[in-house]
Amino acid sequence: SSWPQRSGLSYEDLQKVLIDTPKEEKAREWSQYYTAGPHLAGKNLSQAVWTREKWQEFGVEASIVDYDVYINYPVGHRLALLEEESKSKTTHAKQKQGLDMEKSKYKVKYECSMDEDVLDDDPTSGLDDRIPTFHGYSASGNVTAQYVYVNRGTYQDFEDLVKANVSLKGKIAIAKYGFIFRGLKVKRAQELGMVGMVIYSDPQEDGQITEENGHEPYPAGPARNPSSVQRGSTQFLSIAPGDPTTPGYPSKPGCPREDPHNSTPSIPSVPISYMDALPLLKALNGHGPKASDFNKYWQGGGLGYKGVEYNIGPSPSDLVLNLVNEQEYITTPLWNVIGIINGTIQDEVIVLGNHRDAWIAGGAGDPNSGSAALNEVIRSFGEALKKGYKPLRTIVFASWDGEEYGLIGSTEWVEEYLPWLSKTAVAYLNMDVGTRGPNFLAAASPLLNKALYEATSLVQSPNQTVKGQTVRDLWDGKIKTMGSGSDFTAFQDFAGIPSVDLSFSGGPESPVYHYHSNYDSFAWMDKFGDAGWHYHVTITRVCALFAACLVETPIVAFNATDYAIGLDSYLHSVKNVTTISSDPSVLDAPLIESLASAIARLYNASIAFDARATELATAINGGVPWWKWWRKAQLYYQVRQVNDAYKYLERRFLHSEGLDGRSWFKHVVFAPGIWTGYAGATFPGLVEAVDRGDRKGVERWSNIIKENIDAATDSLK
Ligand code: GLU
Ligand code: CA
Ligand code: ZN
Ligand code: ZN
Repeated sequence: SSWPQRSGLSYEDLQKVLIDTPKEEKAREWSQYYTAGPHLAGKNLSQAVWTREKWQEFGVEASIVDYDVYINYPVGHRLALLEEESKSKTTHAKQKQGLDMEKSKYKVKYECSMDEDVLDDDPTSGLDDRIPTFHGYSASGNVTAQYVYVNRGTYQDFEDLVKANVSLKGKIAIAKYGFIFRGLKVKRAQELGMVGMVIYSDPQEDGQITEENGHEPYPAGPARNPSSVQRGSTQFLSIAPGDPTTPGYPSKPGCPREDPHNSTPSIPSVPISYMDALPLLKALNGHGPKASDFNKYWQGGGLGYKGVEYNIGPSPSDLVLNLVNEQEYITTPLWNVIGIINGTIQDEVIVLGNHRDAWIAGGAGDPNSGSAALNEVIRSFGEALKKGYKPLRTIVFASWDGEEYGLIGSTEWVEEYLPWLSKTAVAYLNMDVGTRGPNFLAAASPLLNKALYEATSLVQSPNQTVKGQTVRDLWDGKIKTMGSGSDFTAFQDFAGIPSVDLSFSGGPESPVYHYHSNYDSFAWMDKFGDAGWHYHVTITRVCALFAACLVETPIVAFNATDYAIGLDSYLHSVKNVTTISSDPSVLDAPLIESLASAIARLYNASIAFDARATELATAINGGVPWWKWWRKAQLYYQVRQVNDAYKYLERRFLHSEGLDGRSWFKHVVFAPGIWTGYAGATFPGLVEAVDRGDRKGVERWSNIIKENIDAATDSLK
């Protein structure tokens, strides 16, 4: 290996190329390309080919890696509010004879449009081949039933309903979007015997920028367009992501396949707009308890000013919903694009990825702001290559397909290349929605905290109020724990590869982001989301400099002490778990103590290890004259030792049997919350055992975690 000589470019010169190369007009051009028409999972081959060719033009080796996956495409749908023609026509006697709903006479009170308005100012909203509103992995079905308003449809919301004896069995749920991953709303409704679910976008989720507050809806203004619908997957992603028929192994043509129903719904669901939800919610006025009287978490929503009283229902027996969902399920190819720049060191690899598939023709925010930025990152590294740069470590780029249905492209790829990734992967950097507003957001494994602060300090912020302010200066510095909902999941939770998710997000005063709607379009981005395209360039720079830091620093830019500090804070939050039905007595002081002392040992070992790494870095930076070859050889050996320990540290937290009831998830520290999905749970095995009141499970998980921590500690000695 040629360390520490560099070929072609110094680190400082590389950084300069990565800052200077990305351009607003280029990002805009890539965005325009990706968002010009539908590119749903498994239906975007031309974009995969184009992406591969672009990356090759930029100077990077690239190829397409495909999988055969089980997914659904929409065929038809209907949602209608029906009223029984006249109560008297159906005699009591007839009802007693068990005349079913189908045979009753209903008149349509309201037929939901189930479609988003075509807007003159937003060309992709009116394409002939635009994608219907539907849910990924939803079950086909045709149900007619009374309905119940279930607030956000969280586990707790359903618990509240059960406690209050609201009848749920055989009913259809109507839920607000938000708070938790949508598929988990459907999961709980299904478990409680409900027969269908409708999920709508309540303007309550839109912060300050609402019509009620006097803002004009898109396209004239920044508020939500009332017809906008959030599509999205209803897979049970906290059970397992990826192709639901191949959990844990790659979906190669001809591979064995399992029943998908462990991680996909069996009751139908549809997404609707608030315009379509209004008549359904109003029809519940006066029926059952009012949300605002019910529970402090149920304070109605953002449609009160339109006359919705947010009653829970159920709707009276003569007022029902007919929900029809028709989906075609097929096993079909999808395409990842994988690019590579071989480094001097080939068994230390940094992976950068973004998904390409979108629910809609546009997708200027999700995911193609990230795709545009990733292209600029690669073009920038390509410029460096032209100047003779050769990276120290190997860089892999990925344009994933099938993220939207359930992180499919990335999960199948990690499952396929697990042996190689386990040996070589140093870190994974994810960009999903690269930008949709001015606020920098990051979630990361604590190992990467240090590099994250460093990279964000190297990039100027577009919204500086004082000259020279960096992204770091204008960011509160809060780093979230890894949950799920994007392509880092398989890397972090299945393969134990420290991961980070980078984005610029909106705040309560930003123009409303039409997530998974036709209006997440190029037109919206160009006018409201990132009018000057500066944030596209900024996220590009953050990502490129972050990668460069991990690739070029002779000692891997990790910090083990931050991991130990993280573990300590997660243990504190375990002590405070006040989740549903938890019995704190199952987790007693001696167990906590044994974990706390394991963490303290890791902390001490980490401080010593990080200090040794810093010393080594200083020794290398000081340079070693060529004639001190023995000193050099000694340093090589030590560097290798330190880097190996850093590289494998996150892997020490994997437990091969996985979490209870969701064995795909192997990480003992991080997992998506079983009932949240997006938000992360820490020490999930332990916390879930506490929640179950399972003393044996608590002991077992305390031991597993302690053994993992001890193994990590030993690896640093
Ligand atoms: N980003 C997708 C969503 O939030 C992920 C889907 C999934 O993880 O299943 O809908
Ligand atoms: Ca699989
Ligand atoms: Zn996305
Ligand atoms: Zn998405």
